[in-house]
Amino acid sequence: MAKLVWRVKLVTELQAGETTEVEVAHIERDEQAGLSDLGLRLAEAKQLTSALQAAIVPAQVTIAGEHRGTCAACRRQLASKGHYTATFRSLFGDVPIRIRRLLTCPCQNGGEAKSFAAFDLEAATVAPELAYVTARYAALAPFGKVAELLSELLSVSGAPNACTVRNRSMRVGEAVAQPNVTTTTTPRPAEPAVVGLDGGYVRSRHRQDERHFEVIAGKVIGAHGSQSRFAFARNSPTIASGAFRQALAMAGVTADTPVTVLCDGDAGLWRLQREALPNATVVLDWWHAAVRFEHALQAARGLGVADAHLAAEAVRELERAKWRLWHGRWPGCRRKLAALCRWARGTSISDMAGIGRLEHHVGELLAYLGRNQGALVHYAARRRNGEPISTAFVESAVNEIIAKRMNKKQQMRWNRATVQPFLDVRTAVLNGTLEDAFRRRYPGFRPANGNDVVALAA
Ligand SMILES: [Zn+2]
Repeated sequence: MAKLVWRVKLVTELQAGETTEVEVAHIERDEQAGLSDLGLRLAEAKQLTSALQAAIVPAQVTIAGEHRGTCAACRRQLASKGHYTATFRSLFGDVPIRIRRLLTCPCQNGGEAKSFAAFDLEAATVAPELAYVTARYAALAPFGKVAELLSELLSVSGAPNACTVRNRSMRVGEAVAQPNVTTTTTPRPAEPAVVGLDGGYVRSRHRQDERHFEVIAGKVIGAHGSQSRFAFARNSPTIASGAFRQALAMAGVTADTPVTVLCDGDAGLWRLQREALPNATVVLDWWHAAVRFEHALQAARGLGVADAHLAAEAVRELERAKWRLWHGRWPGCRRKLAALCRWARGTSISDMAGIGRLEHHVGELLAYLGRNQGALVHYAARRRNGEPISTAFVESAVNEIIAKRMNKKQQMRWNRATVQPFLDVRTAVLNGTLEDAFRRRYPGFRPANGNDVVALAA
């Protein structure tokens, strides 16, 4: 049977009018094509893009090096100091490259002979796009799966493994996804923002020291609904405070921004707020208080076995206390709860079944609210005005940043000292800022008007 043949040729025109041709792919099919014979096969596409990459990259490196072969100041030809070889790792294969080393011109550095590479690989031989794609998906899926997918679809060579993906993501976190306050911040001091703080635990790599360690995660919601997530390991109060300030600056929150901070009442989280946003309106999450009320109410209902009337009375008092808290009347709420506590402790009925449990829960509720009394607000009014009273919006951020990828059902363990780059990549991916971070780091990376770049041959 006759064969159909397609030859793909690369026509190179490095100088206007001077072209060279080289065949980069050869595709053959039977005339009787079946469904799986239609069009390019993945293996062919991989081979084609690798062949193009292998032809283009060395030429670029050589020509870029030639441009640096003369002194920018005196136009003198620079002396060569040999070559070194490197492997450029890209989405379209590994390409061996030879880079010239040149001696600096005698007119520079006072004649001191120094050498430099004619093409600046910046110590990284991984193409920014390979690093970007790897880190972006490593933030969303297990490292091993990312390695499998990339090697299935692309001609990334070498043994694709979880370790490579992990290391590349870490480098992206350290070198690219670093919070860049100066260029991303557009301070909008007059516009109010809402900041939610919460904590979550990740499994520790060093189990002899600790099984888990805490990561603080949060979200800043701007006046127009813009959302910015942040996360950092709770290593020391000083580090956490610095990281929190940086996260706020990234989200455009300055000292002048009217801010509301919500959290679950954790003393460490309030400390962060006091240090970074001392003038903020603070709000204790309503649901954390409501859950504690619910525990006390259950204990009160439990008294019904011994005395239905007293149980009903205790439930009513708790509900009145809760109503007062909801309406911003903390002193009245506190009076009710304290009275209930005293009553439960009262000697005349202290042998009643379940009374100890009620006393315990009411006492705990009272202490919890007391610790957070500065953050008790008129919840009903806030709710009417459409202002947040719950940290649910932060808990979803914690879930996205930590739980989904770093803890639940994942076998990965993390090192408190090195977790930050991974958190930075994850938050950048979730905030949709990773691509911009690459653009800042590598000029020319995925130009924003990407459609114009690929000039389609007519
Ligand atoms: Zn010179």
